[in-house]
Amino acid sequence: MTSSPQPNTSPIPAPAQTLAAQAHLPPLRIVLAAPRGFCAGVDRAIQIVELALIKYGPPVYVRHEIVHNRFVVESLRAKGAVFVEELDEIPDTGQPVIFSAHGVAKSVPAAARLRNMFVLDATCPLVFKVHNEAARHYEQGHAILLIGHKGHPEVVGTLGQLPAGAIHLIETADEASTFVPTDPDRLAYVTQTTLSVDDTADIVAILKSRFPKIAGPAKEDICYATTNRQVSVKAIAGQIDALLVVGAPNSSNSLRLVEVAERNGCKKSFLVQRAADIPWNELGTLSSLGISAGASAPEQLVNEVVDAMRARYAVTIDIVTTAEENIAFNIPRELRDVVRPSGGGPGVAG
Ligand code: SF4
Repeated sequence: MTSSPQPNTSPIPAPAQTLAAQAHLPPLRIVLAAPRGFCAGVDRAIQIVELALIKYGPPVYVRHEIVHNRFVVESLRAKGAVFVEELDEIPDTGQPVIFSAHGVAKSVPAAARLRNMFVLDATCPLVFKVHNEAARHYEQGHAILLIGHKGHPEVVGTLGQLPAGAIHLIETADEASTFVPTDPDRLAYVTQTTLSVDDTADIVAILKSRFPKIAGPAKEDICYATTNRQVSVKAIAGQIDALLVVGAPNSSNSLRLVEVAERNGCKKSFLVQRAADIPWNELGTLSSLGISAGASAPEQLVNEVVDAMRARYAVTIDIVTTAEENIAFNIPRELRDVVRPSGGGPGVAG
């Protein structure tokens, strides 16, 4: 559901003593973009690791960062998760092996089966949807173009759904303009889920104008969370002096938020992993500051950034909400009987 941007009051009010201490500080209006932070796929992936740790005890092995956020990874590591990049780093074990939210090439579950590993797959269902689309196009005899960023784990996983050479990666509009297919009438495209909505629309428009018969997704491959976070940043970009996006440097959807802000009038846009990274010198003198967060960034880190601002400014907060999100994905059957300790909920804060 989408609504027009509306300022609200802050959900993170300053403590009374902070308000008193702020009296002599310069004013700063913080504009919080909403939605921001955790998406349903990230929430599910973190829950899978946490529930597996409760049910099976440590160690629980996780292939690749479960989601692209160091704070999340460190929190889970402290609870007994062991992160590896490849399955051959895992000893023979009956303990769970979890695949990250980004998805994996078909060779990975095949290798796990050969070793009788107990796999819990945290691939986001919206990434699975892209895998299934690619497989369907392949069965129909199409050559497939994947619009995405080379080397990103999701792209590696999608390319690995089909035999080598079946999917051709397109990273830029230039590549879309110059790609030469074997048969222009038997082409299809899919996309990475965390791309720039605008850049991807440009690339798709080029492909459609060059290859009018190209098949594509019935509904966008760029996921709801990526789209919503870009829309909310666009809505605030013109009314702020600077923007901080809380997210990791290897988080595709977070990087896209910085680009979206820059292109929509907020030239001072920065990615920060947490408050310690705030580039105070580059921010300069501020009267307003936007804050958003990528889909793998916990809200605690947003609160940390707001607190850092409160130490230097008399802060007021507006929230600009451009969409309501109420999507949740089922966790794997094996974990549905796990009872969390009282007070435990999804996320990494507990
Ligand atoms: Fe799934 Fe989108 Fe979240 Fe990725 S960003 S985990 S595709 S909901």
